[in-house]
Amino acid sequence: MPDKLALPSEDFRAMAAAAVDFLAAYFDGLRTMPVVVPTTSRAIRERIDEPLPLHGADFMVLMDTVRDVFSQYSRHSAHPRMFGYVASPGTAVTAVSHMLAAAMNINVTAWRSAPSAADLERLTIDWLKQMLGYPPEAGGLLLSGGSMANFAGLAVARTAKAGAEVVREGVAAARRRMCVYVSAESHYSVAKAAGMLGLGEANVREVKTDDSLHMDLADLERLVDAGRAAGHLPLCVVANAGTTATGAFDPLSEVADFARRNDLWMHVDAAYGGFAALAPSARHLFAGIEQADSIALDPHKWLYAPVGCGCVLYKDPAAARAAFAHGADYTRTIGLKDDEAFAFWDYGPELTRPFRALDLWMLIKFVGTERLGQAIEENIACAKYFAELVKRSDDFEMLAPVELSVFCFRHVPKGFSGDLDAYNEKLLVKVQCAGSTYLSNARVGGKFALRGCVLNYRTTKEDMAQVLEDVREAASSL
Ligand SMILES: *Cc1c(COP(=O)(O)O)cnc(C)c1O
Repeated sequence: MPDKLALPSEDFRAMAAAAVDFLAAYFDGLRTMPVVVPTTSRAIRERIDEPLPLHGADFMVLMDTVRDVFSQYSRHSAHPRMFGYVASPGTAVTAVSHMLAAAMNINVTAWRSAPSAADLERLTIDWLKQMLGYPPEAGGLLLSGGSMANFAGLAVARTAKAGAEVVREGVAAARRRMCVYVSAESHYSVAKAAGMLGLGEANVREVKTDDSLHMDLADLERLVDAGRAAGHLPLCVVANAGTTATGAFDPLSEVADFARRNDLWMHVDAAYGGFAALAPSARHLFAGIEQADSIALDPHKWLYAPVGCGCVLYKDPAAARAAFAHGADYTRTIGLKDDEAFAFWDYGPELTRPFRALDLWMLIKFVGTERLGQAIEENIACAKYFAELVKRSDDFEMLAPVELSVFCFRHVPKGFSGDLDAYNEKLLVKVQCAGSTYLSNARVGGKFALRGCVLNYRTTKEDMAQVLEDVREAASSL
């Protein structure tokens, strides 16, 4: 029996080959699979439950379980009609880069721990800045996702506007309520971050939106003035570069002007929409983003990167150090200076960090930004085409404008006079169970919407037409 830990290289080769064979067939079969098959937690547990294993099992038996349980009972993110939430399909090249990173297991805490990986991360951050037109002197780092990126942005905003003593003494040192302004369409991770940072979720003030769900600047001004008059400290405004519910893009230049005039930190939540900067038709929306103090991005959304890759950018890296640098003796970099003394722990909440930059570098360098931008453009075109199909139909209606690749709509059967919200809710569950198309939901202007987000380079216009057919089919069985 070979040692299962210090595995002989021929066994390792056989395992990797079996895994790649499985994945190649998986990619080939995606289009003919259901997006998800209905099941229960109990049914899954019956397939996998066993006492703590004492002796190791054969790898090929494990692969059978991967195929027959984990793959079979998944909602397939890579399926061309997986439109729910904001689901990245992943890519073949990052499947390989992920394995390489995991095998080398480089811990990217600092340059000293990971010389080439640290430099590569700084290079990929430079590339992300270039995609957005963000200034070259800006800094940033990769982290687990958009929620952590919003957290990091707000943490830096807090020290920048309330003073570094809040890190040491706590938020009471500010002696005032610190307020964060978001649009009513913002992602809840912003409020969650405010809770975790001790700012308080109740101090995240919701700014009204206009008919297109963009932040209403007059309402922002009213709220900030009211906060000041009440003796609060207006800290930060969070603008959306693509909301999760509908893809609405706040007017970044106007928000930036307002933030500058009112001494507010400007954070842009571009977790969903950020990489639309690569699509020529969406580029104009990004005017003004270069003025943001911090930006949250999610390569694991619209850059098709594997789950677990978010990014925060800071216009002034020194402001991030004020929030995160700690100087414990066991992390002190002795005998190194400048670029070699660089440590990611001074710029974000994590210490041990995976080699996320390898995924990004392989993806961007292998595919190229031209093809990535084209794929993103096609996703937008698919969503716009869907809106056209809905407008031409007499049994559907759009509930929000298509600004990026999100489409919100509902079924309005001819002659229907009941509760459309309740009807479409039931319809959604039917569509999800049928497995050909997966949609999620949103509330738009108080109405229940069927919601989809095109985020997959495999999705075609035929798929968009199929969505309407699948919804009609589900409706006929209600
Ligand atoms: C998805 C999303 C987030 C949260 O990002 P995670 O990577 O899921 O943590 C934040 N903001 C917006 C606009 C999002 O779409």
